[in-house]
Order: sequence, then structure tokens, then C-alpha cells
Amino acid sequence: MKNFYSNINKSKKILDDGKVVAIPTETVYGLAGNAYSDVAVKRIFKLKNRPYKNPLIVHYFSIKNLHKDCKTNKIFDILYNKFCPGPITFVLNKKSNSRISKYVTSNKKTVAVRFPKNKIARTLLSRLSFPLAAPSANISSKLSPTCSKDVKEEFGNKIKFILDGGNCKIGLESTIIDLTGKPSILRPGSITLEKIRKVLKKKVSIRKTSKKIKAPGQLKFHYYPGIPVKMNKKYPEKNQALIGFGKEFKTGKNCFNLSKNGNLKEAANNLYKTMRLIKKRNFKSIAVTKIPSAGIGYAINDRLKKASNRWAQQQSKFLI
Ligand code: AMP
Ligand code: MG
Repeated sequence: MKNFYSNINKSKKILDDGKVVAIPTETVYGLAGNAYSDVAVKRIFKLKNRPYKNPLIVHYFSIKNLHKDCKTNKIFDILYNKFCPGPITFVLNKKSNSRISKYVTSNKKTVAVRFPKNKIARTLLSRLSFPLAAPSANISSKLSPTCSKDVKEEFGNKIKFILDGGNCKIGLESTIIDLTGKPSILRPGSITLEKIRKVLKKKVSIRKTSKKIKAPGQLKFHYYPGIPVKMNKKYPEKNQALIGFGKEFKTGKNCFNLSKNGNLKEAANNLYKTMRLIKKRNFKSIAVTKIPSAGIGYAINDRLKKASNRWAQQQSKFLI
């Protein structure tokens, strides 16, 4: 307990000083800085090598603080009451007098906001006089970190402090829902489309990125483990690891089971961890068996699709 508070105090000091700290959340670890400070936010982009056109999520302790920066609406109120604090991010309209750095929102009039549930993150937020901009604590386009060791591997000594909170409970990034027009899911997560539809009792769409490649680099890729990923495979090829799921899938030297019980939540939690392990074991590529798309399985498949898009891109004529 003594460590808990001294680590929170240490993080607060660094953040008050406009620097960044890695923080645990229930989804993945975040690279956090003062969302009101251009200097702090620019540090985050630089460390991650993230393009400035990709806006950051702002993390709040309370709705009272959020109201200073964003306009809310009825749908927000319903979802907030049901799911927050928790792994859901809302895109809202920014107030004209909001103090959020323009770098956070990539100069947009909208802002993505979230209320993390993780106790360490909440305690830290409760002690700060500003919200935290916190994208995942990894180099841009790579896998998100789900424990402090992963963060250390990404950044080494480039960041001052990692607030250690053990393994992330969910292990996949938050669901993102755009509430500036008709509700639309921008990124699937553990709070699924079905759960959201049930609460809102209305249609919610999932916004898909265009599959047509019109220009080089337009193909959406992300969550890249550093080696090619291929989906819907049954057997591993030479120097390839196979990721599978369920009790029929046999674990072996080159076969990794995400959940022996066939539990999709457990599979989601093991996904990034397993991909990192495979890379460390020097396999040259990853094959993944078909994963059911029900519940959080939809989010797992979304991440796998984006990870494998990179592979498709490397193969395509569009490559620079
Ligand atoms: P992450 O990579 O987890 O930091 O998630 C950030 C993602 O949230 C971005 O890539 C966008 O898809 C979405 N996002 C963040 N801010 C905004 C915004 N102001 N307007 C629309 N989408 C946003
Ligand atoms: Mg990210």
C-alpha cells in the first residue's frame, strides 16, 4: 500500500512537470501526459512515432471534469451510466472553451474520451488537476502492451516511469463509439455492438474502413507484431507458429492455444502476449486458425485483420 501511494505521487510529479508516464488500464497500458499541455502531448507523439493526424484518447476521472471540455448528449448519458468507468471511448463534440491541446484532437472539433476503471489509473486521475491524453504505450502501429515488461521493451529508458499495475484485465483496446451523429462504432472492443444495441434499444452501426486501395499506404494496418500474420489457417508452415483456440487445438512447440476452454475473453487477454512470445522465439511468421466472431471475438478478428493487412501490404505492388 505504501508503494501504491508513493508510485502515484511519483507519477503525479512527473505529469505535473509536463512529462509522460506509462499507466496501467483495464484495456492496455497507456502512455500518459497532461491533455491540456501542448508540450506533454507532443512528447507522447514523438515517443510513439505517431503521426499527428491520429488523435489521442483523453482519460477523465469524473463526468464533472468532462463537462468542462465536451458537449454530451442523451445517448452518452445512457452509455455512461451503464458502462463507465470501463473500456469504452466516446467521440464527442469539443466545447469551444475547452483547454484540450489541439495536438490531442489533430485539430478536430471532436474529442475521444474515456473513464478507465483500473484502480491505479483512477487514483492517479483523481489527484491530477487535468485529464490524461493516453494512447497505448507502444511504438505506433505495433502491438499494444498488456504488462509493464512490454512497455519497457517498447521504450527502454526513454520514459521516466512505468506505473506497474500487473497484467491488464482485458488486454485489448477500448471500444470506440462516435456519438457526434448517429451512434457508430469506430473500433470494436470488449463492450460489444450487441451490448450497446441492447442498452440503447436502437440501431448502431459499425464503421468499416474502405477495403479498396486507392493510393499507396491507404490500406489500414495496425497491431503489427513485427512478423507477418496470416488468418484462417489450419496448419503451421516452416518456421511459422500457429495460434489456435479451444480444447481441440493441441498446444505444442509451434502451436499456441489462446484458451483451452474456448473462452473468448481469455483468448482476447492472451492474444498480444502470445504474439509477443512467438516473435521472441524467433518464428518468422504467425498463422492463426479461425476464431469465432461472437462477442469479443469480433474485436479479436478486427485486430488480427489489421495485423495481417500489413502482410498484405508488404506483398502488394503498392509498396514503396
Ligand atoms: P488509440 O490508438 O487507442 O489511442 O485510439 C485512438 C483512436 O481513437 C484514433 O485512431 C481514432 O480512431 C479515435 N479518435 C481519437 N480521437 C478522435 C477524434 N477527436 N475524433 C474521431 N476519432 C477519434
Ligand atoms: Mg494504440
